[in-house]
Amino acid sequence: MIACKQVAKALANNRYYELPWWRRLPMFAHIKLCVMCGKYHSQVITMQKGMRNYLEHEEAGDLETHIHLSDEAKKRIQDAIKKES
Ligand SMILES: [Zn+2]
Repeated sequence: MIACKQVAKALANNRYYELPWWRRLPMFAHIKLCVMCGKYHSQVITMQKGMRNYLEHEEAGDLETHIHLSDEAKKRIQDAIKKES
C-alpha cells in the first residue's frame, strides 16, 4: 500500500492520466480505500479524466459537436448570468 503523501505528490507533479497503469493502479486503489484521499483526490482524478476526454476529442476534431450550444441555449445562459449579477 502506498502512502497518502505519495498519492498527493504524484497527483501534484504528474497528470494522473499520463502515469503508466502500474503507477495508477496502486494510487487508484489507495484513493478508493483511504477516506481522506478518497474525499480529496477523487475530484482531482475525475477532473483530470475529464480533461483527457476533452483533449482526445480536441485531437480527433469532433469537439465542436460535443460542446456546441444552440443560440437559444447561449441566450438562456446569458440571461441567467445577467440575473445573477
Ligand atoms: Zn490516503
